[in-house]
Amino acid sequence: MNLEKIEQVLQKEPNYRRKQVKKCLFQDLINDWSEATVLPLSLREELNKSFPISIEAETFISKNKKSVKALITLQDKEKIESVLMCYNDNRNTVCVSSQVGCSLNCAFCATGKEGFTRNLSFSEIIEQVLFFARFLKKENKKITNIVFMGMGEPLLNYDNVIKAIEILNDKDCFGLGIRSFSISTSGIIDGIKKLTEENKEINLAVSLNASNNKLRSQLMPINNKYPLDELLKTIDEYINRSRRKVMFEYIMIKGINDFDENALELSKIVKNRLCFVNLIPCNPTEKNFQPSPTKRIKKFKEILEKNKIVVTQRYLFGDDISAACGQLVGQNKKSDYK
Ligand code: SF4
Repeated sequence: MNLEKIEQVLQKEPNYRRKQVKKCLFQDLINDWSEATVLPLSLREELNKSFPISIEAETFISKNKKSVKALITLQDKEKIESVLMCYNDNRNTVCVSSQVGCSLNCAFCATGKEGFTRNLSFSEIIEQVLFFARFLKKENKKITNIVFMGMGEPLLNYDNVIKAIEILNDKDCFGLGIRSFSISTSGIIDGIKKLTEENKEINLAVSLNASNNKLRSQLMPINNKYPLDELLKTIDEYINRSRRKVMFEYIMIKGINDFDENALELSKIVKNRLCFVNLIPCNPTEKNFQPSPTKRIKKFKEILEKNKIVVTQRYLFGDDISAACGQLVGQNKKSDYK
């Protein structure tokens, strides 16, 4: 799907026609322009020819039916993965990818092992959302949240990510409230600074995963470029400007970052901030990395809470279809590391 092409097709059309086209695509969620009977036949044919909207994807549904992974084939035949997570409180969250692969090579992540291929265009980001919006429409449900936590580092594809959010937020297009978007970053300071200047109430999540620079650089090489103290200073500016609570994600890896000392250190570095810590058991994508046992996570959580840190815990979501955190690799098989 290429939303820039649609502009070319509609160049000579009156404004009301453009609105109709947007409504068909983003609100009526048509699968093919032939369904857009409000438009003249000649325009439908032209749109079908120049701007086809079918999406090539394979879907994988988890055993508990709460998560669905889509393996989407892009026009150049590259593959990306997106995940729909349906929660009991009626939230339907779509986790989108922002890049084909990723250059940052975090030690616990399957995407990083694949290397970086290219950035996604804003249309390709939107395509992932439309796929699941159409999917949910069949069940009379809607997307309630969009999180940039799939393949890639969203702040290294800044312009396309922001443009996609603007279109998805636009009332004439998808119309999802700005507070329903979250960007998760590995800590790209320049990107967080730019986001601060946007003055938009987008939720920021920072993948922390370690309580000190030494450990963080081992797990996330990007920490060598953007060390913790500078990162935290930049996050503070974001909080001050946006007044949004920041989420610190902490993937819990058995015997690596889940000791009592790590919990104490983590408490010290995040305290007195408008934030919360989300503990995520590591997904076994790498032979050497195993999730922390439940008891360990409980103790880690208790230490944080004793130090007045708000903590949430994410449960494994879609791990049976390799749709969980760090497992997205753009191929229709389980992670090689399983
Ligand atoms: S965790 Fe995120 S930033 Fe790190 S390699 Fe994986 S996709 Fe890239």
